[in-house]
Amino acid sequence: MASYDVVIIGGGGAGLTAAVYTSRANLKTLLLEKLTPGGQIALTDIVENYPGFPEGVTGTDISMRMEEQAKKYGTEVQYEEVQSISGSGGGFRIKTAKTTYDTKTIIIASGASFRMIGVPGEKELTGRGVSYCATCDGAFFKNKEIVVVGGGDSAMQEGIFLTRFVTKLKVIHRRDKLRASPILQDRAKENPKISFIWDTVVTRIEGDKKVEKIKVKNLKTNEEKDFKTDGVFVFIGHDPATKFLQGFVQLDEKGYVKANERLETSVQGVFVAGEVRAGAVKQLVSACGEGCEAALNAQAYLEQLELTEKK
Ligand code: NAP
Repeated sequence: MASYDVVIIGGGGAGLTAAVYTSRANLKTLLLEKLTPGGQIALTDIVENYPGFPEGVTGTDISMRMEEQAKKYGTEVQYEEVQSISGSGGGFRIKTAKTTYDTKTIIIASGASFRMIGVPGEKELTGRGVSYCATCDGAFFKNKEIVVVGGGDSAMQEGIFLTRFVTKLKVIHRRDKLRASPILQDRAKENPKISFIWDTVVTRIEGDKKVEKIKVKNLKTNEEKDFKTDGVFVFIGHDPATKFLQGFVQLDEKGYVKANERLETSVQGVFVAGEVRAGAVKQLVSACGEGCEAALNAQAYLEQLELTEKK
């Protein structure tokens, strides 16, 4: 069984930055990622607020570069989903569907997964008109009319990106005010292809082989109506990816990992970084910062562990 100094769970900005730091410190590092390098950033069209890129940088580009950088210093990357963790202080065992890994420390950087609306037809038509990723699926909607659900930064940013392909896009938001930052709100409102349906939720998605129409409900008037659409893009936030951590570390009431100011979780030797941490601000730059901090604290913990073992 392979044995490591540090296993990092999650290959988004937090995990990849942690990997750069631990591998550069000559710690034997394994990074486990269930999907693609970059996590949520890899699914983003363009990142405009990461320092050093005044023109912006594509999500794919920065993700690939971060992975390349971590590997350059010796990080091993495996594409496997963690199922469970056991053990304590200095000796942990991580199980995936394929393998079991032993490690002295863990950095949890598993991020969050997109939230579903939870209405009839959504699951059945996912991949057939229902999507959660504009960069992955946008090109399939060339010259089509679609709706975007949500009123946050993701809904605005991804909606604006989708107007490269579609003829019309309606944003359906459950309130009459957007949550998105002012700059993205202004850009969306100025875009001639985008219109808004306020105070409204989607209650059903229908179609035979693909999305054909949706049912919506106005929350102020309770009025319901059907309208035709070719696609439904859902950007209504995220839930923490912590199912595999239940019963292992302390989570808050929403499922995020609790940590102290040193990013230490309730289990000694287990650190947390990025969006999965309770209280994180959910930006790429802060995720990277936390990845660095968790890595440095894990390194200090390992040095302490070595000293104790020598005594
Ligand atoms: P978010 O900020 O949590 O916004 C989620 C949106 O979906 C809100 O408008 C919310 O409505 C709505 N919503 C939530 N649950 C819903 C439901 N069940 N049905 C209908 N609508 C629902 O999520 P996000 O836009 O994915 O952003 C997540 C984080 O990433 C944020 O901190 C954001 O700033 C950051 N981010 C930043 C950028 C950028 O800086 N360019 C880009 C993308 C994301 P309410 O407003 O009524 O709650």
